[in-house]
Amino acid sequence: MIITVASFKGGVGKTTSAVHLAAFLQGQAKTLLIDADPNQSALGWASRGELPFPVLSSAEAAQQTEPYDHVVIDTQARPNAEELKTLADTCDLLVLPTLTDVMSLDALVLTIEYLKAVQAERYGILITAIPPKPSKVVTEVKTMLIEADLPVFNHSIRRYSAFQKAAMAGLPVYAVKDPKAEAAWEDYETVGEEILALMAGMA
Ligand code: ADP
Repeated sequence: MIITVASFKGGVGKTTSAVHLAAFLQGQAKTLLIDADPNQSALGWASRGELPFPVLSSAEAAQQTEPYDHVVIDTQARPNAEELKTLADTCDLLVLPTLTDVMSLDALVLTIEYLKAVQAERYGILITAIPPKPSKVVTEVKTMLIEADLPVFNHSIRRYSAFQKAAMAGLPVYAVKDPKAEAAWEDYETVGEEILALMAGMA
C-alpha cells in the first residue's frame, strides 16, 4: 500500500509521522520511504543514523526497480490544490498530521476543503504532539473534528522529547535511550494498526 503524509503547514509532525509509519509497516512487510520534501528531512534523518528501511529521494525512487510491499511518501509541505489532488490520487491513504493549535487547524480546514472539492475520500487526520496527560483542548478539538464528520484517527501521538532525540540520532524512536521511548513508539504502532484495519475495510 502507498501512504502519503501531507500537510499545509510545517512543523506538525509530517516527517516524524512518515518515518514512524514506515517503521511500523516495515515490521509487517518490505517498506520504502520516499522523501519528496525539498527540505529532505527524512533523508537527513536516515543519514544521521540507521533506519530499518531505505529512504530515497523522488529521483532515486523513480530509478529503482526493487519491489516493495509498502511505500510511505513524505511530501513537500504546503502543496497547492492541484498538487494535493495528485497526492490524493496516487496513494491508498493520505495521512494529514495536525497540531491542535488554531493556526494548524486553520491549515487543516483549508486542506480538507481542497480534498472535498476534488472528491478525495481516503484520508485520515492524525493529531500529533498532544500533552501526554489528558487535555481538555485535545478532547474538544477531536470532538469538533468528529462532529464535522471528518475522518480522524482514534489514537493521537503524544508529545515526547524522545521523538526529537530520535530525529537527532537518526533512529526510530524505539531505538533511543529515553524513558518514554516505548510509549512514544506505541502511539505510532497503534495508529499503524488503525491504518491496517482501515485499509482492510476499504479493500
Ligand atoms: P514537519 O515535517 O511537519 O515539519 P517534523 O516531523 O519535522 O514536522 O516535526 C517538527 C518538530 O517537532 C521536530 O523538531 C520534531 O522532532 C518535533 N516533533 C514531531 N512530533 C513530535 C512529538 N510527537 N513529540 C515531540 N516532538 C515532536
